[in-house]
Amino acid sequence: MTEPLPAPPSPGLPASFGAAIARGAMGHCPRCGEGALFARFIRPVSHCPNCGQDWRFQRADDLPAYLSILITGHLLAPVIILLIAEYDMGPGMAAAIILPLAVAMLIGLLQPAKGAVIALQWWHGMHGFVRERRQPAAPPAAG
Ligand SMILES: [Zn+2]
Repeated sequence: MTEPLPAPPSPGLPASFGAAIARGAMGHCPRCGEGALFARFIRPVSHCPNCGQDWRFQRADDLPAYLSILITGHLLAPVIILLIAEYDMGPGMAAAIILPLAVAMLIGLLQPAKGAVIALQWWHGMHGFVRERRQPAAPPAAG
């Protein structure tokens, strides 16, 4: 007798953690990769329109903003040094170039960072750090 073959993996599930992160960063559902993850700019949909995954409990909090700041700062630091040291640019002129660029990068990175954080939480089953509310203990019986 031969044993039955194991069930094939569910179609559409990401093959790896990196694939789930990439799907989230691209604004797609990390679970199926088809449905949109965001209803508006950084507001996630409540459920995936394609696979029905519930996203209501994924709370990214401030991590996407921290990641956007971290990436923007690391990418712009060499540009700032280049503008001031190599081109001998004054601080006012450098700020006129750097500040709009920084704002554009921060806003542009916010949605991919949030999608990646949601995917990270989903992959690890973290549910956005939301704990179930405890019911208050029942009062002691009178008497
Ligand atoms: Zn989906």
